[in-house]
Order: sequence, then C-alpha cells, then structure tokens
Amino acid sequence: MNTKYIFITGGVVSSLGKGVATSSIGLLLKSYGLKVTLQKIDPYINVDPGTMNPYQHGEVFVTTDGAECDLDLGHYERFLNEALTRDSNITTGQIYYSVIEKERRGEYLGKTVQVVPHITDEIKSKIMKLANTDSFDVVITEIGGTVGDIEGQPFLEAVRQMRLDLGKQDTLYIHLTLVPFIKAAREFKTKPTQHSVRELRAIGIQPDILLCRSDSWLTGDERKKISLFCNVPVEAVIDAIDVECIYEIPLILHQQNLDKMILSYLGIEAKEPDLEEWRLFVENAKSPTKTVEIAICGKYIELRDAYKSIMEALYHAAVANDARLKLKWIDTDRIEDDIKLGNTLAYADGILVPGGFGMRGVEGKIKIVKYAREMKKPFLGICLGMQCQVIEYARNICGMQGANSTEFDDSTAYPVIDLLPGQKRIKNKGGTMRLGDWPCRLETKTLAQRIYRKDLIHERHRHRYEVNPKYIKALTKKGLIFSGTSPNGKLMEIAEITDHPFFIGTQFHPEFTSRPLAPNPIFYQFIKKSLKKI
Ligand code: GLN
Repeated sequence: MNTKYIFITGGVVSSLGKGVATSSIGLLLKSYGLKVTLQKIDPYINVDPGTMNPYQHGEVFVTTDGAECDLDLGHYERFLNEALTRDSNITTGQIYYSVIEKERRGEYLGKTVQVVPHITDEIKSKIMKLANTDSFDVVITEIGGTVGDIEGQPFLEAVRQMRLDLGKQDTLYIHLTLVPFIKAAREFKTKPTQHSVRELRAIGIQPDILLCRSDSWLTGDERKKISLFCNVPVEAVIDAIDVECIYEIPLILHQQNLDKMILSYLGIEAKEPDLEEWRLFVENAKSPTKTVEIAICGKYIELRDAYKSIMEALYHAAVANDARLKLKWIDTDRIEDDIKLGNTLAYADGILVPGGFGMRGVEGKIKIVKYAREMKKPFLGICLGMQCQVIEYARNICGMQGANSTEFDDSTAYPVIDLLPGQKRIKNKGGTMRLGDWPCRLETKTLAQRIYRKDLIHERHRHRYEVNPKYIKALTKKGLIFSGTSPNGKLMEIAEITDHPFFIGTQFHPEFTSRPLAPNPIFYQFIKKSLKKI
C-alpha cells in the first residue's frame, strides 16, 4: 500500500482543539493496526518555539531526539502512545532556512528562488520525508493557524499540490470548524463554516470531511445545510462536541464512523479496531471514587497551556489512582507572607513546582519548597523546581546564606546551581540547551529507585544549569540525597530526602513521557502519596 496522507486544516477561529482532533484520528487509525504518524506545521518564522516566551506559545514540548516543539506534539505522543522525533514539527523558519542554505550552495542552478515551486517543494519533501523514515501507512499533517492567515498560504498550496501529485486515493482533506450556538436566536449558525470552506476552496482545496466543533449535537437539518453549502456529503459532516475529558474525543468520532469513512475514502482495507484499553481508561477517568488536590506553583499560571504536559501527567496518574484531579494554581510571583502561603497550601494534598526560566517568582518557589519540606507535604520539583529544592536546602539546612543559582544571582557567595560546563561558550539561544533523552542511573535503596524499579532510566531534559559539583559533598553531608545521576556520576539528576513521605525533584521533565495508558512512575507515586492524608 502507498503511504496515505491526511491533511487537517482549521477554520473560523483558533484554539478549536485541532491538535486533539488530529491525535484522535491518529489513535483511531492506529487501532486498526495501521502504522500511523503525526506531524504539525507551524507557520511562524521562528525555527522552533524554544526561544519563545510561554505566554506566546504555551509549553515547549521536547522530543527524545532533543527537538523543542509545539505542545501539540505532546498530545500526539499521548494519544499514539509513541515517541516522535523532530521530523514531526515543521515551521516556516525551518523551511526558509533550508531553502536559503540550498541557494547559498548553488543548488538552484541559477534559477530565481520563489515561493512556488521552491518553498512549496521544500514543504512537500519534508512531509514525504516523514513517511519514509519508517515506511508509515498513514501520515497525518496538521496545519497550524486558521485558513485565511497569510503565513499559512504556502503550506496550503503545498498540500493542494500533493493531491495533484499523488491522486485522490492517497490524500484526504479534513477541515475543523466552529458551529456556534447563538443563544438569542436559539440556533446553531453555520455561516462561519460556510465562509471558511469557501476560503479553502478559493485556494483549490475541497475538504472531504468536516469536523464541526459545537456545544451539543447538531440536528439532521443543520448537517444537511452544512453539507449542501460546503459541498461535503452529509455523512461526512461530523460532530466534534465539547466534552469534559479530551481522551473521550476518539470514541465520539468513532461512534460517528469517522474512522471507517477515512479508511473507505483512502481505499484501506482493515480489520476491526481495538479500542478496549482506551475505552477502559475513559470509563475510569469519568467515575473516580477519590479526589486529590495538587497545587501547581509557577509564574505562568494565567496561561494554563504553559503547563500542558504537567496537567496531563497529573491527570493520567490521578486516573490510575482512581482519583478526580483538582488543581490549585499558585502564582509564585505574588507570594507575600508565609502565613498566607501556609493557609493556601494547607488544603493541597500535594505540591508541585514546575520548570521555568529567569528570576521572577523564584523566591516564591523557594518559600514553597521550604513549606513542603517542613510540613511534610508530598512534593515534586521539576527542573527549575528541583534547582529551587537544592537552593532551599543549601540556605536553610546547610547554612549557606544567600545560596542561589548563577542564573539569578551572579555574585552569590554560594552558587549551588551553575551553568553546565558545555554551556559556558554558547552564544546562540536557540536549540542549545541540554535537550532530549539522557540516561540517568538510580542509586539503590532510594525513593527514586523504588518509584522506577529500575537501575537505569531515560527521561527528557531542557536546561542550561545544573547542581554545581563543588557543593555536592556539602549538600550530601547534610542529608540531601542525589539518587539519580548521569551514568558517569557527574550530573545530578534527582534529589530527595529521607524523613519525609515524598520529597523529590528531578532535573529532567518526567511529564513529557506520561501517557494515559502508561502514566509516568514519578507522577503516579506523587499522586498516590498525596492521596494518603497525613
Ligand atoms: N532555567 C533553568 C535551567 O536552564 C531550568 C530550566 C527548566 O526548568 N526547564 O537550567
């Protein structure tokens, strides 16, 4: 069978959940035993989101091979239950970068380099390259942004050409739109969908299937109307209604035969899908018997997307522990006094301090670590959270007054966190951190080893700073245990203490490897311990 290409576009407004829709379709097709992969196109000019502020972009997801990617890649991995690579995220920046490099090498043989065909050819080759990396049956490419955006045009033109190149059997266009319910008129309005499909058709793309986001189910008449005006068969007007649990979306699409329709359009013969495990997860997620409240203490809390994978990892772990997850958001930049802080945190079952960059909110995080340590509240520190844990221990247990990270205070007397040696000469900011999968050796008889039940683990990283080797001895002497290190023993990857129900920090990001069907062990134990009231 030739590789089949599915393109997913979005219309009307952004934030309709195209990433989740794409992931859901990926999961459904995979459940038929097909080899499926997912890809995101981001039409911005940045080479990757690694240099963007989380308020611009939300979380930066990191792949095993160390690419800093769009957060949709996180959804893709969680739904597919597979690790992806850097080939799964393309940006305008990357496309122009390689075209300009080719031009400098003289590869265009004297031609004028143009958007069509050179940029579009580059886009097509990046999409097809992904198909060839592992001879996939289906490649699903999500085009970021909304149809009509100027920067998305070359990508839409490229995928238009792909149908011309490969034929109808091997290409499929799915368009996600919004069908708003107008309360005053008590009606769904189909006009925005009609307009966005018209926009797509003006570019030369006739969608094969429409996914309509709506608050509740559309009626037969509304579907007929959309079908007629958008030139899509009525059975291909699919309802993507709002649900409480995003992991239910594949089941809702399956219920409407979307998967079977895709297979038939693409001429794929397949047996019955296996969705049992997924169905069970969703069932468990919807009716937990316990409740657990976790305080997430960070500085980007107005934009929850900045902590997407952490929220999902907590959710997976809560479901696995038969608990409903409640989140309490603490802005670490707004912590005034310890009493108020104590009052807010007293009701939380567990405390999580996530990663971050720059000094805003750091002193608040350090106060929170102290509270969790002293009050024996289950605590998980991630990346900067772990660094704050080390700073707090140095200041309050080891008597190193003013201990800090050189990221925040260059002239501290106790630089317990300092730049990684390899980082000192680096000038460029983009793609230069310690990134991706690195092995970590676990010490025997530690909390870390009890959690993972292994001696060697691989987790994903994204940092420039580390525990300063000069202070390891002093910290260890006073009881801080570095229970995970790089295999050569030089980099401290996990810190913990005894005499506490659960107090652990990781230099890596365990949230990136958590999946609904395979929660990350650290998150699982964190929730488990948080459920045990003390
Ligand atoms: N700013 C810290 C560093 O670069 C922590 C990074 C993070 O939390 N991802 O090491």
